[in-house]
Amino acid sequence: MDSKLLKKEKLLPLLDELRKEFLLVAPVEEDALLFYRPVESVAEIKLGSGRSVVPPKEWFFPQAESLYRYSTEGGGLVLEETLAATPAVLFGIHPCDLRSFAVLDAVFLQEPVDRYYTLRREKTVIIGISCTAVCPECFCSAYGISPVEGTGADVHLSEVGAVYMVEVLTPKGKELVARYQEFFEDQVAGVAEAKEARKETLSGQFTVRVTVDGLPAKLGSLFDHPYWEELSRRCLGCGICTYVCPTCHCFDITDVCRGFEGKRFRCWDACLFRDYTLHTSGHNPRHALYQRLRNRFFHKLKYNHDRYAIEGCVGCGRCVALCPVNIDIREVIATVRGLGE
Ligand code: SF4
Ligand code: SF4
Repeated sequence: MDSKLLKKEKLLPLLDELRKEFLLVAPVEEDALLFYRPVESVAEIKLGSGRSVVPPKEWFFPQAESLYRYSTEGGGLVLEETLAATPAVLFGIHPCDLRSFAVLDAVFLQEPVDRYYTLRREKTVIIGISCTAVCPECFCSAYGISPVEGTGADVHLSEVGAVYMVEVLTPKGKELVARYQEFFEDQVAGVAEAKEARKETLSGQFTVRVTVDGLPAKLGSLFDHPYWEELSRRCLGCGICTYVCPTCHCFDITDVCRGFEGKRFRCWDACLFRDYTLHTSGHNPRHALYQRLRNRFFHKLKYNHDRYAIEGCVGCGRCVALCPVNIDIREVIATVRGLGE
């Protein structure tokens, strides 16, 4: 791994140069909330930002996207490809969201490969950024993620005094740094140590310590436990927890047709919704809300681990912060660990 320095005052000029060559997607503030959006000017970027409301996965896996158009005019069938991806830089991604890309990769990059996700992934350079504070709902450390961890980024920035320590982590990152080398300087003594010290400080700021050791096996014996029904009495089935989750990846496919012209698109779906598992016959294997809520926690804390050898939660805390009835995955984990079989 190569390390460089970037003076703080050079960050926006660098991003401005990148914007001329790439579509620059970065954190912006809308109605006092953070989102990752393509920016036309670097003045729009919210630097030093915390967690976005909607995770940056939406850049690779949009909330709604067209898959193709079709026409049946004249009795035939003409399909028109709508797949397109612009070379992009995704800037300002925090460690938990960086890990979420590995979770999504395990799903979308495996055979059968998802072409839409793959193309965007290939054409995007990811610039990660270390956290400067730990939110009350964060618990990424439970999954071995540190607030200054750059794994998953091509280039990762950590603020240290008046500079950013720049970790060049992949060939894509190396190419980017080489191309814009005039912005970077060589690493100097003390910066890496200062980053480590920041890691120690931030690691002491987690308000809740969460342990997930042995959880997948433990859950395996609790499928029929009455706890899930009790927990679901609070749940509204609103699906907010799935929509804001950086690792949720379920989608629905729908056709919109007018006359002979049509469009097939996909949009995010949520396992908390009754229709999610509703069969055409009318049978629903998860007809009760407790079954759907249980499925969500099993998917995050067991199924993903069993299927892909990576946890389905990254401890970002979004669902903790936004659930309208305060269902807190950290409390669920602690309760499950204490339950008898
Ligand atoms: S956000 Fe809370 S209330 Fe809404 S579906 Fe998720 S757990 Fe239930
Ligand atoms: S389950 Fe909650 S805490 Fe875990 S990754 Fe999803 S939104 Fe974040």
